[in-house]
Amino acid sequence: MNARLTFLGAVGTVTGSKYLLEFAGQKYLIDSGLFQGQKQLRQRNWAPLPVRPAEIDAVFLTHAHLDHSGYIPLLVKNGFKGPVHATAPTCDLCGILLPDSGHLQERDAEFANRHGYSKHKPAKPLYTQQDAEDALTHFKPAVFDRTISISDDVAIRFLHAGHILGAAIIELNIAGKKIVFSGDLGRPNSATMLDPAVVHEADYLVVESTYGNRRHEQQDAEDLIADIVNRTAERGGTVLVPAFAVGRSQSLMFHLDRLKKAERIPDLPVFLDSPMAIDASEIFCRYLEDHRLTAAQCGTSCGVATYTRSVDDSKALDANPMPKIIISASGMATGGRILHHLKHYVTDERNTVLFTGFQAAGTRGDALTKGVKGVKIHGDYFPVHAEVTNLHMLSAHADTDEILSWLGNVERAPTMTFVTHGEPDASEALRQRIMKELKWPSSTPSYQDSVELV
Ligand SMILES: [Zn+2]
Repeated sequence: MNARLTFLGAVGTVTGSKYLLEFAGQKYLIDSGLFQGQKQLRQRNWAPLPVRPAEIDAVFLTHAHLDHSGYIPLLVKNGFKGPVHATAPTCDLCGILLPDSGHLQERDAEFANRHGYSKHKPAKPLYTQQDAEDALTHFKPAVFDRTISISDDVAIRFLHAGHILGAAIIELNIAGKKIVFSGDLGRPNSATMLDPAVVHEADYLVVESTYGNRRHEQQDAEDLIADIVNRTAERGGTVLVPAFAVGRSQSLMFHLDRLKKAERIPDLPVFLDSPMAIDASEIFCRYLEDHRLTAAQCGTSCGVATYTRSVDDSKALDANPMPKIIISASGMATGGRILHHLKHYVTDERNTVLFTGFQAAGTRGDALTKGVKGVKIHGDYFPVHAEVTNLHMLSAHADTDEILSWLGNVERAPTMTFVTHGEPDASEALRQRIMKELKWPSSTPSYQDSVELV
């Protein structure tokens, strides 16, 4: 086969997913995500790739989250001409996420210039909303489980990963060899998403390790959500939920709707305060074959929340002291409307800030869930008095045992299993389990490592 795989992101970190695969003069990128979190990581978004975007033949995208897709507009802006292959729901979700990402970057640059807190003068966006709109014309929707021929000797197939709507495991066939990219793996037996597809065969495997060193709590998510909502309501407080617009927002509404119907929580008003999450919910309800909810269940769980689209309605939520539940993006409190709500709610001990999954190192979500006394938002400092908690089991990621049992379906040991998409401890822990329990060769590549696949 004689291919070369270069790790351009998601190694030693959960962000910036980007793998370059070169074979017989062809160049492919598997995922093209943004680095997020710590500044030294985010700076990598500005560094040129070791390959000219114009030379890349195609992008294969596992799912819509920005840490997997958010670099595509820059790739196109810098000369990429090829197609972006992704499942149909992923294409639709990128249709809202990428323009929003461009818009946020323009707004942040403008905000930094206005308030003079950027070192760069003037601060510039990585790409604009228009760049993102242009990039969308490159997307080619694919059907799950169907083989797509890319060239004479390269074919790909998208398998359900269960992580979020549209998320895929990507199987590449190159000259008779099989390379499998897990993408982000979902949890088996999720209330809303399908189980990750079983993979029986792989010559090379690239597997994520977000929770490579952790097990999710065994308690029932709904019990815990009920406890949190009830004790916050007793204090007369508000539950503020930083949630990923895509995935967590929909499953939270599903749980809240069930809890309300069972009268296990008081009938507090629920607000979905993210135009993107609202659009994502609509897309979710369009693809009934790609998750577990029926049309009726989609309807009722989306109906639990009042949608606030306009900025004025969003602001009005904070002006009204009535206890409530606000679900808003972004999930790691790195940007978006959640920041304005945080400023308002984090300083009052009656409130709860409820995180719903993995918090990347260096994000506000990471700092808050680790118990910092204060948090900086838009240059100002806010003392943290609210209860802060994180329900990891709501995470859309498999834990260490679940990843290992998914790997266990592969019948013959792959030539090499690359453990990526994790903080260093998590990736190393999973690598050791793979070596010890499955007895497979395994490695944790570093940024820009390049390996020969034979
Ligand atoms: Zn993801």
